[in-house]
Amino acid sequence: MTPDHGSLLYEGKAKRVFSADQPDRVLVEFKNDATAFNALKRAELEGKGRLNCQISARLFEMLEREGVPTHYLGLAAETWMLVQHVDVIPLEVVIRNVATGSLCQQTPIAAGTELSPALLDLYYKDDNLGDPLLSESRLQLLGLISSQQRLEIEQLARRVNQLLLSFFESLDLLLVDFKLELGLNRAGTLLVADEISPDTCRLWDHRNSDPQARILDKDRFRQDLGGVIEAYGEILKRVQGV
Ligand code: C5P
Repeated sequence: MTPDHGSLLYEGKAKRVFSADQPDRVLVEFKNDATAFNALKRAELEGKGRLNCQISARLFEMLEREGVPTHYLGLAAETWMLVQHVDVIPLEVVIRNVATGSLCQQTPIAAGTELSPALLDLYYKDDNLGDPLLSESRLQLLGLISSQQRLEIEQLARRVNQLLLSFFESLDLLLVDFKLELGLNRAGTLLVADEISPDTCRLWDHRNSDPQARILDKDRFRQDLGGVIEAYGEILKRVQGV
């Protein structure tokens, strides 16, 4: 089912954004396209859009219940979400609880090292530049956010990490790391935007000790492990079970 929507405002790698009935709202359609390594690797995975839309909806609802402001307003269809219109801050906030991925490619930190407190890094959101990691001085030089906003973003992201960590833990899932995007709504409130899904989180299954079988996130696609949709389906099942 496709809900009534206005014109296409923006098309990204995994979602399309359309105008809605009010200027401060937009409709987001989750696509089946899977991309990795800055879209060098691509595939169409039947069902992925629905799974990520439904998983994200449940996670945004949980965050809202806990008092975290998000752009989420409700589901409009199986693959469609109604959200507040926000000016997205062109930063990717990555929080890591366990070392893996690019952290281990770029530093000598051993894979699997527990990171406590969690490591928070900011990346500049720009596909053409390959989303580069920002130093504090480069962040200041870019002038995208004030130092007050920098603090607010870090506090919000750390709170989201705590909430997601314990939520997933209750589902026998380890939140290894994840990426957040933040935006400002019309009133200037900082909101969690974009999506929170196995495309943007690394999730390991506590019920499985095999280092490959326990992976229930986009690393299955990145590493050609197969079973991507089955893994995302397992996440949805657990998230819905609460
Ligand atoms: O690749 P890396 O190890 O830096 O990724 C850290 C986390 O951020 C992973 O959960 C990954 O899925 C997520 N991420 C993302 N979008 C990006 C970069 C990373 O969702 N552009």
